[in-house]
Amino acid sequence: MEEAGNFIERIIEDDLASGRVPGNTIVTRFPPEPNGYLHIGHIKSICLNFGLAQKYNGVCHLRLDDTNPAKEETEYIDSIKSDIRWLGFDWGEHEYYASDYYDTLYEIAVRLIKEGKAYVDSLSPEEVKLYRGTLTQPGKNSPDRDRSVEENLRLFEEMRQGKHPEGKYVLRAKLDMASPNINMRDPALYRIKFESHPRTGDKWCVYPMYDFTHPISDAIEGITHSICTLEFEDHRPAYDWATSIDGIEHTPHQYEFARLNINHMVLSKRKLLQMVNMGLVDGWDDPRMPTVSGIRRRGYSPESMRDFVRRVGVAKVESVVDYSLMEFCVREDLNKRARRVMVVLDPIKLVIDNYPAGQTEMIEADNNPEDPSAGKRLIPFSGELYIEREDFAVDPPKGYHRLYVGNEIRLKHAYYVTATGYETDADGNVTVVHCTYDPESRGGTTPDNRKVRGTSHWVSADAAISAEIRQYDKLFSAEDPGARTGNYLDDLNPDSLKVLTGAKLEPSLADAVPGQYLQFMRSGYYMADSKDSRPDHLVFNRTVTLKDSWEKLKQKLNSPA
Ligand code: ATP
Ligand code: MG
Repeated sequence: MEEAGNFIERIIEDDLASGRVPGNTIVTRFPPEPNGYLHIGHIKSICLNFGLAQKYNGVCHLRLDDTNPAKEETEYIDSIKSDIRWLGFDWGEHEYYASDYYDTLYEIAVRLIKEGKAYVDSLSPEEVKLYRGTLTQPGKNSPDRDRSVEENLRLFEEMRQGKHPEGKYVLRAKLDMASPNINMRDPALYRIKFESHPRTGDKWCVYPMYDFTHPISDAIEGITHSICTLEFEDHRPAYDWATSIDGIEHTPHQYEFARLNINHMVLSKRKLLQMVNMGLVDGWDDPRMPTVSGIRRRGYSPESMRDFVRRVGVAKVESVVDYSLMEFCVREDLNKRARRVMVVLDPIKLVIDNYPAGQTEMIEADNNPEDPSAGKRLIPFSGELYIEREDFAVDPPKGYHRLYVGNEIRLKHAYYVTATGYETDADGNVTVVHCTYDPESRGGTTPDNRKVRGTSHWVSADAAISAEIRQYDKLFSAEDPGARTGNYLDDLNPDSLKVLTGAKLEPSLADAVPGQYLQFMRSGYYMADSKDSRPDHLVFNRTVTLKDSWEKLKQKLNSPA
């Protein structure tokens, strides 16, 4: 299905039609800073940049924006690459690093100094702030602004040689301290930082600033459409200045779109890193984390996330997307691809008193009623089964259609059974339910076409296997984490993880591996955990419930009793 174009597509189509695009090939880039793992917000930017390149037969570069060596690590670079591939995109040979351009950037800076367009400033960070002015007040020129070219060259060279401590000098562009745009008030181009870089090692102790590096990197790579989030709108004049420095041949253009925000979620690498460092989650790929590695471990499909960002669309205005829209997209997709299996999460025994003692038979079951090509499997059935505790009632409430003494239900794929009695422990908890079965009802229908209202899933007691089941809920219970107290951590949901250890699973799950999408019938979608699941200790993560119980709960709380 072809979507109605977003505003960026219209710009690109105009540019292509009017021959404004060199070689008629659009070039976009996804420019993550390798200072953390990618999150769901980045998915929007990835789908947009790679998607536009696909749609218009262009190219999308992966550029690692590695200009802050203090916070960047190779682990992050590896995770970024693997996450983009998982989403289904490929940058081919176009893998670049801002640090590849350090030499060029340095030469450009020296040239700016020689042309009297940049100067070494010795104001302290506090003074820089004072001199900068405010949104309503113009700034003031630094006393160093008129330093001679020779002295600027000498000082910048000394900065590069490591002769000055961090913070003593910065190199600034000589633009306009009275500009209404604060980003144009002599922006810093270079700062001193005695920090080893993952790629350039100890070669540099001066590092270029974002507003200088990013546009020039775009120009060097021949980016035609440089797409970023709205917070960079105020930086666009600085971007245009940098890409029009004499000697820079290609002129890319910057376009801004609204970032993806989702309620009940924190999308900021800084905060996610804080939760990892504080041990509040099991690492960046904790299945509750809104990181790409987290949702992947939890069992989300890349298709569902691409669908999600497509539905959200690309706009110029900030908005907050509902968490349940994301989960809706996940369910829609997993419904098509997940293999149905039977798992009893909270088991009680069901004994079929008239079933031949010691007999086991194999029952055929669809793997996915939505997809006949998924085939069928055989499940062992016997006279001793497990069913869900909630599927039997001693005193059935009104409208209860599952098992109670005297009531007949269907065991999914198998037989009709009628409860005849039950046993309890000393505390009165039901431990065993007794029933009889109708041998004529094999496969779930009877010769007389008898109707039953309830269907229960089950697992044969002898053949059942065990597993640890991890059920997740939202990491934050508040819609806008931190809005109430100013600290997002105050809104962590204390019940975001529930671990079940007593579940009984059908034996086909012994071979389940991460990457396989499963639906535990009536409970939700699940996936084997990629970190902790082993053949001798299976662990399954609940990806998403079958229905949106949170929405139901909210409605209940909001509706008058
Ligand atoms: P964070 O605020 O989480 O640190 P960032 O913007 O600093 O994110 P970058 O690595 O600089 O992270 O982002 C790479 C690209 O992804 C940028 O072009 C940025 O605009 C985009 N991006 C980041 N967050 C979002 C978001 N929530 N929605 C859409 N795009 C985003
Ligand atoms: Mg950033």
